[in-house]
Amino acid sequence: MSMFGVMFRHNDGYPIVLTSEIATASDTFGASVVGFASAIPENYFRRRIAHMFFRVSSDREGRVKRAPYGLAKVEATLLHYGFSRSDVVIASPYKLDRVIGPRTRIVGIYTMDALGLSYGSGILYWILKLADLPYRGLPYIARSFMEVVEHPAIKAHKDHIKVVVGGPATWQLVDTGAWQKLGVDVVYEGSFENYGPVLFERILKGEDVRGRVVNSKPPSVEEVPTIVTPSIGGMVEVTRGCGRGCAFCTPTLNGMISSFPFEGHIDKEIITNIEKGGFKSITLHSEEFFRYGAKGIDPNPDKVKELVVKAYKLIKRYGEDYRLHTDFTTAAVVVQAPELVKFVGEYMNEGGDWSFIEMGIETGSPRLLNMLMAGKAKPFTPRQYPDIVEQAVGILNDNRWVVVGTMILNLPGERDEDVAASLELLDRLRKYRILTFPLPFIPMGALRKRDFTVLDKMIEDPLRRELILKALIKSMEEAVRSVELIVGNMENIVAKLIIRRISLFAFNLVLSRYKAKLGQLGEHSAEFIRKLASAAWDISKSPVRIPIDEANQ
Ligand code: SF4
Repeated sequence: MSMFGVMFRHNDGYPIVLTSEIATASDTFGASVVGFASAIPENYFRRRIAHMFFRVSSDREGRVKRAPYGLAKVEATLLHYGFSRSDVVIASPYKLDRVIGPRTRIVGIYTMDALGLSYGSGILYWILKLADLPYRGLPYIARSFMEVVEHPAIKAHKDHIKVVVGGPATWQLVDTGAWQKLGVDVVYEGSFENYGPVLFERILKGEDVRGRVVNSKPPSVEEVPTIVTPSIGGMVEVTRGCGRGCAFCTPTLNGMISSFPFEGHIDKEIITNIEKGGFKSITLHSEEFFRYGAKGIDPNPDKVKELVVKAYKLIKRYGEDYRLHTDFTTAAVVVQAPELVKFVGEYMNEGGDWSFIEMGIETGSPRLLNMLMAGKAKPFTPRQYPDIVEQAVGILNDNRWVVVGTMILNLPGERDEDVAASLELLDRLRKYRILTFPLPFIPMGALRKRDFTVLDKMIEDPLRRELILKALIKSMEEAVRSVELIVGNMENIVAKLIIRRISLFAFNLVLSRYKAKLGQLGEHSAEFIRKLASAAWDISKSPVRIPIDEANQ
């Protein structure tokens, strides 16, 4: 029975159909870490091959068995609001024709990289270009967004359907103005829980809602319901927001940190993922895991320990081989609470296991940090930041975490001395187990003009090219060493062997080319870098903060 109190046949369609681009909908054989392949451009991924790789498990009707976490939350919110499972479906993007019909009023598409302008797509562009490998067409993730938004079932029913797009990549559609051309009616930005259902109800009542909807008010913890459909990667959100205030961060993450309770929330989602989703590995998702339960910048170790022990006991009820992980941290909190990191490591990396953890390093320049993300270093100072990063990576390695560290290039106000300071930091990190990913910041002005030559300009500049090459060499060396971890959770043994082999071949190929290229192009001397970087320690002359949007006009 639907919320509207009527029974209907499902070939009439569901009133609300939720889906996402194919690459995002897929759990790539159970190892979402392999999902970075979604940024590979079309000339390597023919449609048929891509569809074989990016599989989506669903029932005959088209309802998925596992969904991207954000989409599972949207569904949960709608159900909590009063809609029923006869009103709402999370559908496989391959089976939209089975769920869209005369009764459908809303198709909600969740996107991670609609136009291929994310950091992930940018780095893949550099990886291929610097290895002299051809790059043609769109990143597959963006192509797969087009496949969904231009799906024949949507076109056939467009006269009574509103296409609503949400998710982390909506800014791409807004900043380029592409949403209108793609037939999108509403671009939804911000948290869904405390406004989304109201908007959907207005659309269902026939209101002609169009344009950009921004909900900047974060929901309270009580307003966030638990997921009903298991989430890809066995993901369970334990905190939302971070509060460190980086200028380039999305508003959803930039709000003050709030933590979900274990009983009745986190435990329920773990059980859903294990019992319905079939996961043996649970990821406690947070922008800053070691600050779970914190009220301000300082961590609250007792709360984190309590959470880890409770979650660990719960998963072990299902078997000894069930595992617990987390995904993000900052450097500062690790250095603030090394004992806590050790405690958590004993549970998450038990029995000598290693796992990945992501850490946004972003820059080695105190000057740039002070301008754009001073909160990242707190309670330490921007001038201490490079030391904090090195210490944090060491502490995480000691507790068997391989760090995935990102460094952003081309941030507004970036000067050569900032790049030199990042090169110095990179050099200090060489002895640790870390993948250092250089990410391109694409200014909004360039986005509006679709001027992506900005990526080429960065690799033509000798200093920036040296940073990108050295960071990629370090990443590929560590990727070769960590290949078992990369394919670790893959459920299909044959696929695992194939992907492992292809990955090793690809990592070694690009690695040898980068080394040859760095040899040909030459490196700046350590003395030159040191002198240049010294100016990045002078934070007295830098403005306290650059508003990032204005800096990019
Ligand atoms: S530390 Fe990360 S999550 Fe927090 S505001 Fe900065 S970029 Fe956003």
